[in-house]
Amino acid sequence: MSKIKQPKHSFRRDKYLSARGGSAQFYLIRCAKCREIVALYQKDGQGRLFRLYLDRIVEPKSLLDKISTVRDKKSMPNLVCESCQALIGIPMVYERENRLAFRLVHGSIVREKSRGFFLEDRGGSE
Ligand SMILES: [Zn+2]
Repeated sequence: MSKIKQPKHSFRRDKYLSARGGSAQFYLIRCAKCREIVALYQKDGQGRLFRLYLDRIVEPKSLLDKISTVRDKKSMPNLVCESCQALIGIPMVYERENRLAFRLVHGSIVREKSRGFFLEDRGGSE
């Protein structure tokens, strides 16, 4: 069993975080269908998770690469599970902040608290 050192991420602190009270939590976003990890995400403030802002997606690199060239809603791909291709999120603009996000498909994800690691070390099952 090999232990891969994961970088620990720290919160992005900006006007969006301030607007939500200044507190944040990392979540691993998993596909509800196959439980594969879709993203590591920084959720600002309290409350439910309805959308994933592009600027709060921390991992994985493959997803960051996909959204790094996005400039508007039209150039955004759907967010799909790379493992089972389930539809997770649909491009949207959060008008109040003119901010691009994926609107989560209801019931498509489960979220799990993270301390800022993309892959938590849990003793390993593989
Ligand atoms: Zn899946």
